[in-house]
Amino acid sequence: MKTEYTQKIATALIVSVIFFLTGCLDAPKPYTHQEMIKAGDGYVVYKCHTCNGNKTIDCSTCDGKGEQKCVSCDGEVGNKSCPTCKGKGKYTCPTCKGKKKVKCWECNGTGEVRRETNK
Ligand SMILES: [Zn+2]
Ligand SMILES: [Zn+2]
Ligand SMILES: [Zn+2]
Repeated sequence: MKTEYTQKIATALIVSVIFFLTGCLDAPKPYTHQEMIKAGDGYVVYKCHTCNGNKTIDCSTCDGKGEQKCVSCDGEVGNKSCPTCKGKGKYTCPTCKGKKKVKCWECNGTGEVRRETNK
């Protein structure tokens, strides 16, 4: 019974952390310096402010390092009993799969953001 209760709390915690993280990612950033690429009938296309037109951004999970300090053993190197990293003290970042960069969330990897103007 007690284990079940602890598991429930752990699950609730993980779920709320995920909600918090996705909430941060979805929050729109105000445009301060908009660089216009083109304008058409009722729309303007700007260079994406988040990735600066690069289409990818540094992975925020690993801070662009491509790997993360092991959370199970707090990065202890040589602790072979750690089930997560088996003594490496770190592991490949699951978000960017070690690529260090991820697709820009704002422009969806296009480098451009389209805004409707006649609304
Ligand atoms: Zn570990
Ligand atoms: Zn990463
Ligand atoms: Zn972008």
